[in-house]
Amino acid sequence: MKIMANRMDLGFKMHQDEYEEAALRVLRSGWYILGKEVDAFEEEYAAFHGEGFSCAGVANGLDALVLAVRAMGIGEGDEVIVQGNTYIASVMGISINGATPVFVEPDEHHQIDVSKIEAAITDRTKAVMVVHLYGHICDMDKITGICKKHNLKLVEDCAQAHGAKWKGKLAGTFGDAGCFSFYPSKNIGAFGDAGAVISPDPELIKKVKVIRNYGSGKRYYNEVVGVNSRLDEMQAALLSVRMKYIGEITEERRKIAAVYNEKITNPAIVKPVQQEGGYEVYHQYVIRSERRDELIEYLKEKEIGTIIHYPVPPHLQQAYEYLGHKKGDLPISERYADEVLSIPMYNGMSDEEQQYVIDALNAF
Ligand SMILES: *Cc1c(COP(=O)(O)O)cnc(C)c1O
Repeated sequence: MKIMANRMDLGFKMHQDEYEEAALRVLRSGWYILGKEVDAFEEEYAAFHGEGFSCAGVANGLDALVLAVRAMGIGEGDEVIVQGNTYIASVMGISINGATPVFVEPDEHHQIDVSKIEAAITDRTKAVMVVHLYGHICDMDKITGICKKHNLKLVEDCAQAHGAKWKGKLAGTFGDAGCFSFYPSKNIGAFGDAGAVISPDPELIKKVKVIRNYGSGKRYYNEVVGVNSRLDEMQAALLSVRMKYIGEITEERRKIAAVYNEKITNPAIVKPVQQEGGYEVYHQYVIRSERRDELIEYLKEKEIGTIIHYPVPPHLQQAYEYLGHKKGDLPISERYADEVLSIPMYNGMSDEEQQYVIDALNAF
């Protein structure tokens, strides 16, 4: 049986008629950028996160981070704390603005180790960026407490955590901005690039909307040097369809994860640790193994696809050589890079497919 690490076709096929209808509606409308589809999606997406939230659609998840950080006035000379094992985009969201990413090691949940944040704060620290990696969620009580105490902004990178909750409260609603990617493989995926920023502060969202459109609030009047990072009508219309099913999408992923949790019994494999108070959405199901590379080859022979999220931690990437880090600076992040493995997890995965993966893992 051939099983891919991830599949995007099945989620489309589940509600194909609705997606096609939305796409045709946009094609026939004659209006393709910043129109009523984007307005409607922004309104829905804000409302999903609760009363009092505003939303700005942007071109992708990286821009959601870049524009949110910029709208907070964070830049040259400022430091932003972020976890060492995150996807590169979190870090670029900071550094593209000229600010310096300061890395903190992850805990056993692969989330930022809350107990190590305060030691990383300096008088240049302006914000903490938490990343709800793999669809797990950080201890937001402790993190919001630290940010309040030290008067720091809180940015949530929710690219992997649509609908995740901490004690019943949704990811993205804890701080000054929640930044989302709708890259096709994310839990809430568009059919191309797309992203969004949500915030309880309408002024921040207004700033993001100005920056995303050439720094222009009023057409042809430019307040700041902005960028072109608009969400387009097509993606917004398709995302409105996808959002109708966020409950189903999440529950199905949680069910798949629960079966993996129960049935993977091989002691050579460390399963993800659930956190009390967390409602995980399993963007990835990430195991760890000291024999990770051997495991990949073994699974490949059985035609089971896997992905490493991520093989090189940001502080050791060539792009961040200028920060002056060296191997050994973040031993936990580095060990995770050597041991993590995302096994097949996607909406539409059949019981037979999952059992085949489980049997293979247990026989390793
Ligand atoms: C995918 C992702 C992003 C960036 O999203 P894009 O839409 O690909 O730009 C940012 N942060 C994390 C953690 C991600 O997984």
